Amino acid sequence: MHRLRSGNFKTGPIFAKGTGNPLALGSLVNRVILPALNRCEVCGKSESDHGKANHLYKRDDNIPQWHGWPAARWGLGSNLYRLGVPDMVIQRILRHANVSTTATYYIKTASDDVKHAMEKLESNIPQAAPAVRDTYRTLEPEKQARDRTLQ
Ligand SMILES: [Zn+2]
Repeated sequence: MHRLRSGNFKTGPIFAKGTGNPLALGSLVNRVILPALNRCEVCGKSESDHGKANHLYKRDDNIPQWHGWPAARWGLGSNLYRLGVPDMVIQRILRHANVSTTATYYIKTASDDVKHAMEKLESNIPQAAPAVRDTYRTLEPEKQARDRTLQ
């Protein structure tokens, strides 16, 4: 879709300048990605456009941070995997030579998903009723009364 939009869908670099030459990825990060991710928590402006507002710039930590291209690639692969996209398709998107490389990409994703699932389960299990100790047999009459009503 991106290639179609760029008018260059068969050959050439995926990220191209207007001239058709490969885009310098470092400049893409600085011009597009970082300004989109580094936004003020208060006013939503990017750090470079913030200037002198009536408050100090504070980065919005709800927006993901940039961790570099390998992490972005891994994130793309993992999100496609979570969406149920077949390995063979993700392999082609990530341009892995071998589909086994693609599969090893999700080991961390899968173990994180398992961890989150277990945490979710753990927090949703109702607490067991505390064990009642009756060392001094003080609860006995009550228990006997209950036993009688059950009969
Ligand atoms: Zn602000």
